[in-house]
Amino acid sequence: MSEALNILQSVFGYESFREPQDAIIETVLEGNDALVLMPTGGGKSLCYQIPALARAGCGIVISPLIALMQDQVSAMRQIGVRSSFLNSTLDPHAAREVEAQLLSGDLDLLYIAPERLTQERCIALLKQASIALFAIDEAHCVSQWGHDFRADYLQLSLLHQRFPEIPRIALTATADARTREEIIMRLDLGGAQQFIAGFDRPNIRYRIALKHNPKPQLLRFLKEEHAHHAGIVYCLSRRKTEDVAFWLREQGFNALPYHAGLGATVRADHQARFLREEAVIIVATIAFGMGIDKPDVRFVAHLDMPKTVESYYQETGRAGRDGEPANAWMIYGLQDVIKLRQMMAGSEGSEEHKRAEQHRLNAMLGLCEITTCRRESLMNYFGEHLAEPCGNCDTCLEPADTWDGTDSARKALSVVYRTGQRFGVNHLIDVLRGAENKKVSQFGHQALPTYGIGQDLDNQQWRSVFRQLVARGYLSVDLEQFGALRLEEKCRALLRGEENIELRRDTRGKNIKLQTKTELPSDIDIALWEALRDRRRTLAEEQGVPPYVIFHDRSLKEMCALLPSSSMQFGRITGVGERKLDKYGEAFLAVINDHLNPN
Ligand code: ADP
Ligand code: ZN
Repeated sequence: MSEALNILQSVFGYESFREPQDAIIETVLEGNDALVLMPTGGGKSLCYQIPALARAGCGIVISPLIALMQDQVSAMRQIGVRSSFLNSTLDPHAAREVEAQLLSGDLDLLYIAPERLTQERCIALLKQASIALFAIDEAHCVSQWGHDFRADYLQLSLLHQRFPEIPRIALTATADARTREEIIMRLDLGGAQQFIAGFDRPNIRYRIALKHNPKPQLLRFLKEEHAHHAGIVYCLSRRKTEDVAFWLREQGFNALPYHAGLGATVRADHQARFLREEAVIIVATIAFGMGIDKPDVRFVAHLDMPKTVESYYQETGRAGRDGEPANAWMIYGLQDVIKLRQMMAGSEGSEEHKRAEQHRLNAMLGLCEITTCRRESLMNYFGEHLAEPCGNCDTCLEPADTWDGTDSARKALSVVYRTGQRFGVNHLIDVLRGAENKKVSQFGHQALPTYGIGQDLDNQQWRSVFRQLVARGYLSVDLEQFGALRLEEKCRALLRGEENIELRRDTRGKNIKLQTKTELPSDIDIALWEALRDRRRTLAEEQGVPPYVIFHDRSLKEMCALLPSSSMQFGRITGVGERKLDKYGEAFLAVINDHLNPN
């Protein structure tokens, strides 16, 4: 294990292992199998990279994310790890060269796509080579129930049959127990030691606000907190992603759309720009994200609500992989609730499937409406428990107000009933507020006892009441009747006066306290920071790699704070191993020196 620590420090430039990296590495070093569940950004890759370096032979990494392999290999080469990849993007000649490197023992790490690995030809090649371990990345792709299912993953159990003596390590960030069982069964990992790290992402700040004016709300959030940051904005529809991206460009942001309807080259180009350039915002449908390995995504914004807590967690999880502060920001409103409820009701599948979907949507709505810590609720959903409220979500920072909504809720339910459960929310509010318009008189609704009994609340407040009643299942949305609201069984007790209801008082999330300091610490010299970033950018462009492959922001921040003046001091910066010290020490020390001693 001392060798592993030595590699961590000298090759990767990191001080110490994070829990439970050391235990995992020890297991693999001893030649045993491991199953690793760690959240995104937890540090999974070191768990196979270090054993691959410490054990004799080459580490084989199986990954479905072909688009990422080039950057992964570049990052490894930057720190002096001899690595290559084999996938369909290589021409036969280049592939043969990689194969020769493997056979002559010139590789520490080799990334292989699963469809390639399972070919008999590739197995024969590996049989002749010296192999340190097999790492099966994104192991949840073996699960037929998940949305990332890859048929080739099913065949990976052959590794165990054909190479019984070589340790295997399977890794995933997917939390749930069923998927874990499936991985163990399908990959034949019954004997593997399991490492399950907590799923919390403490550096992500969760915020969910009321949607009242989406574009200005987004603009304000971006201007105040993320003016120069890379991030992802999620929307439900393709058209909306293009519309929002176009509009953000008009506002001066470097925003690009991404959805499955764009051509493959456009998508690849936008993704590459997101990785290679700084401060690019991708406006995307959920088609974007799987395998986005960019560490410095500073925010994920949702303009539409995801259908499940799982999707919400996965999408927001793309922020802040580098462990620095990041924002998960979402706005949602009554229309989201109605739209999603309608989509669910109209979806294909058995009644049982629909019920399960409704159930998951309810959990998502619950997360939006809760007045207690969001992180606590998220963790509970995944079967984990926080010792105390997190202090880093909107409800912790700006406790939500509640009010006794019993009386208003009864009025709302009663107007639904009196109008025959045939009308949408706008008309219902008109009746409650005693509006005089054509529709009201056409249906004679001014004669109802509920007409005009709701003048105490304004339009927004009524929408809030209806939203919360739909979200909590007192009202349902009728698909056939264009969003007409109907009473549900659950509202009986409330109508009979046997039950009271506390409602959330909506705020517009404008509190200053909530703003996330993703900007630099105040003691950092901005001019030096910019100069270091410039140098990083030039070096990255010269080599055709993303800037973070040269150094992460964290390393640059440390340079600003510690102002190293010798190569020895530079070597102590996080992320500076021997190779990077050699390669870049001089260049960055010169920037610091020039800054401190102009002329
Ligand atoms: P995952 O694959 O689990 O999403 P990564 O392996 O990409 O996470 O690691 C996330 C980030 O944490 C990377 O920037 C990595 O360099 C950093 N990291 C991992 N382990 C350590 C460590 N022991 N000390 C410092 N930084 C680490
Ligand atoms: Zn909290």
